[in-house]
Amino acid sequence: MTDPTTEPAPSPAAALPVGEADVAAGLAEVRAGIAQAAGDSGRDPATVHLVAVSKTVPAAGILPALEAGQRLFGENYVQEARAKWPELRARFPDAELHLVGPLQSNKAREAVELFDVIHALDRLSLAAALAKEIARTGRTPRLLIQVNTGAEPQKGGVLPEQAEALLAECRDTHGLAINGLMCVPPVADPPSAHFALLARLAERHNLPILSMGMSADYPAAIQLGATHVRVGTAIFGARARPA
Ligand SMILES: *Cc1c(COP(=O)(O)O)cnc(C)c1O
Repeated sequence: MTDPTTEPAPSPAAALPVGEADVAAGLAEVRAGIAQAAGDSGRDPATVHLVAVSKTVPAAGILPALEAGQRLFGENYVQEARAKWPELRARFPDAELHLVGPLQSNKAREAVELFDVIHALDRLSLAAALAKEIARTGRTPRLLIQVNTGAEPQKGGVLPEQAEALLAECRDTHGLAINGLMCVPPVADPPSAHFALLARLAERHNLPILSMGMSADYPAAIQLGATHVRVGTAIFGARARPA
């Protein structure tokens, strides 16, 4: 008989502060899911980059992912990233920061200073603001155009039929190099048609980066050619506040 007053010996996982083991486990699971999806479609898993979306996750919750070797992170808000990342980056200088959320033109200066990749360029006024800051600072974040593949009125992104014109104007009017495309399919739709549309657009315009796929659908995105999947919940758990 076991003595009910004796505490069980702590397992190594239980000895970690709550959450740390979970983040490392979530990350390992997503890495395995990426390898599986890449293998299933005959792709080299090294061609699929995981952007760990850490919006609303405090710095202490991001640390275990950094310690487990994760280096690409996505944030949605310029202010939040500015509060969390300078210190984390001082410890992990090779961390790469992606802005995956919408960007207001009046935050272009901070965004260019902070981020290595900006995923949601979707209008000419923002292109103008970014071009100005890129020229001023000499920093050249990679730029992706967000495409509103579901033509949802509340969602950011250029309409698919206007993507070509925006691409041309970014290049010709503002001298901006565009590196790829990004989309967030409508929640109610099966995502594959949206991923396929984005992949066709990227191919037609010779754009190497395809940012698509989140926690619920990254395997389908990889099957359709995603080079960057943006995964938050499956790594860090459910967000406490909506983002
Ligand atoms: C929050 C967010 C993600 C991550 O979503 P999860 O469902 O938590 O994986 C990816 N992309 C964008 C643009 C987001 O806003």
